Amino acid sequence: MQAQQSYLDPELPAARRTELLLKEMTLEEKVGQMCQYVGEVSQGRASNVDEVAGYSLLLGEKVELIRSGRVGSFLKVPGALEANYLQQQAEQTRLKIPILIGTDAIHGHGMDLGSSTIFPSPISLAASFDVGLAQRVAEATAREMRATGFHWSFSPNVDVVRDPRWGRTGETFGEDPFLAGELGAAMVVGYQGRDFSAPTNVLACTKHLVAGGVPDNVFNGSAAELSERTLREFFLPPFERTVQAGVYTLMPAHNEVNGVPCHADERLLQHELRQQWGFQGFVISDWLDIERLHSVHHVAETRRDADRLAVVAGVDMHMHGGQFFENVVSQVREGTIPEARIDEAASKILFAKFQLGLFERRYADEAEIAKTVLAPPHRELALEGARKSLVLLKNEKNLLPLTGVKSVLVTGPDADDQSLLGDWARTQPDGNVTTILAGTRALAPSGVSVEHVPTGPIAAISDEQIAAAVAAARKVDVVVLAIGENSLRDNPVRTSGENVDRATLEPPGRQLELMRALAGAGKPIVVVLVNGAPIASEWMVEHAAALIEAWEPGMHGGTAVAEVLFGRYNPSGKLPMTVPRSTGHIKIFYNYRPSAYHRGKFRYSESAPLFEFGHGLSFTTFTYRDLRVPEQLTIGTPLQVEVEVENTGDRAGDEVVLLYLQDVYASVTRPVKELKGFQRVSLEPHQKQVVRFELPPEAFTLLDRDMKRTTEPGEFRLSVGARALERSVWLKRAGD
Ligand code: BGC
Repeated sequence: MQAQQSYLDPELPAARRTELLLKEMTLEEKVGQMCQYVGEVSQGRASNVDEVAGYSLLLGEKVELIRSGRVGSFLKVPGALEANYLQQQAEQTRLKIPILIGTDAIHGHGMDLGSSTIFPSPISLAASFDVGLAQRVAEATAREMRATGFHWSFSPNVDVVRDPRWGRTGETFGEDPFLAGELGAAMVVGYQGRDFSAPTNVLACTKHLVAGGVPDNVFNGSAAELSERTLREFFLPPFERTVQAGVYTLMPAHNEVNGVPCHADERLLQHELRQQWGFQGFVISDWLDIERLHSVHHVAETRRDADRLAVVAGVDMHMHGGQFFENVVSQVREGTIPEARIDEAASKILFAKFQLGLFERRYADEAEIAKTVLAPPHRELALEGARKSLVLLKNEKNLLPLTGVKSVLVTGPDADDQSLLGDWARTQPDGNVTTILAGTRALAPSGVSVEHVPTGPIAAISDEQIAAAVAAARKVDVVVLAIGENSLRDNPVRTSGENVDRATLEPPGRQLELMRALAGAGKPIVVVLVNGAPIASEWMVEHAAALIEAWEPGMHGGTAVAEVLFGRYNPSGKLPMTVPRSTGHIKIFYNYRPSAYHRGKFRYSESAPLFEFGHGLSFTTFTYRDLRVPEQLTIGTPLQVEVEVENTGDRAGDEVVLLYLQDVYASVTRPVKELKGFQRVSLEPHQKQVVRFELPPEAFTLLDRDMKRTTEPGEFRLSVGARALERSVWLKRAGD
């Protein structure tokens, strides 16, 4: 007689183990898998955040829930010790199902209470236009997570941003759907590997479906009103791209779109996501958003109705807190939630646990932590990311790199603090972070003195500090002024980040006042911006002799900034977002429709942005030649494009080559240009390289007036970079 198969047998495939386990489970145990809780067990009580939800749990109660098989997952677990404690409890349950531990490891494992490698934030990675870098950052993050007992990163965030006052801009890849999709897909592959079965893989989570980056009144979670065309052309594509890359989990957005809250949108979560795009994984609700179907959106009369609406719409796991379990179990029993939905949700979650190998390896191991977290290659990668993501916006009279300078003043509220880390990172031990001041001191050539006057924090620049900075400025050759934002997660006075949205894009607080005062000292000012979203100040741009957009460059950001100041690294990043001339110029983005500016003149201001998407200077020059495309192309075939790029200066450097396409005449209006390809090339002085792109047939499609995807014959114009090389290709139907 054949021995009975068991789900505990590691030799069986994950899908078979899932089937076997599901057969042994009660309805309660299955719904238990759909419940996630906050895991701050070490404090003996649940964290405040649970209490905000009107629900607090004592440690003993949490343990009780785990032991009765009612917990599938935790988030906000402080570290490896607590993760192991929770797993021990789960191992004592009837079915011994391990717990899936998730965290916001957005650019490194930054929410872990220990220290970890903090990479540049997503907007910085976007400025690097380097897909391989994004993938490696996700891989390294995944390694540090698994070493510490975490298995699931709530990343990438592929929200397209059209209003940069939104505080979360820094955790996105900016305004372009193609760039967001490519980098998001790269991070999915970095986190999950081929199929998340390796011990160094974690689950990725694409978020937030959809349109959080265009909130009606700027505030996080407020309504988005978008035409179906705009939604489909600009906002949905990066999500679909990450599904193609195999992302296993997805989080709906806080907001509603055109009157339907995303957490109750069956068309979005079932039809679009699963049936149209072929998503195979599970959907996790965002923080309190099922609750908000009742309390904020008023589409559910009771909390119980809200739970039903969300589950029926396609949500498989509830992010945290109580009542969900009871409400779902009772409504399945009543027949208002189909049991098949529960089986589907539970099996997707269990499959992930088997595939990740959690039944065999659920505990973090001290030795692994010591080997992996902050490993030298990870730190080196953080530095590489910082280098590649800095964007040199302005460099009057080639002030940079600084030569012949004897003394530098480094000042400004972001000069010597951890604002470089960005949101979703807790403050790290000081020794782990190279601030701009520390980097400048370490790399200043001999004979160059570095002075420092502290002016900050942003919210509290004092008259005395301003006076001291001006006095010091008078005595030096150059001023390096680090200003911008501070979105560090545990900074009580952060100026941007999640739920900290901005009314204006000017540097907050008295930072401009500080700069105006410094300008009075008559020395050239190099402004270094530290920020997750564009800072818009015409005055600042005019009065800065040089301007470095450092974004949120991570733990070694100060080294990268200093390398650019002193010419040890040649800047190569480009803007992943347009910088508006002022707050009033929002919404401004590069891929606008042709009519946007055809009468465009403001009475007292230019309409052009301060800097457009794709802008970024170098210490060398690049010349583009011979953009080659065939004259004609049959619809349905890929297009081969070539362009020669030469480094025509005398310094080595990287150039990011951006390829745009415009559908010149069409039955519906098409953007003036859309990014369809990008590549980063490294060129020695006077070295040339032919850069090749292949555009797939989908690159030429549009949504016609019936919202059907099609390709219309006719002229398409290709252009590269800001260098205005253009060529046309005529698309023809096969046989024409
Ligand atoms: C955010 C999510 C995040 C979750 C868990 C929410 O407030 O919107 O992006 O993953 O919190 O921390």
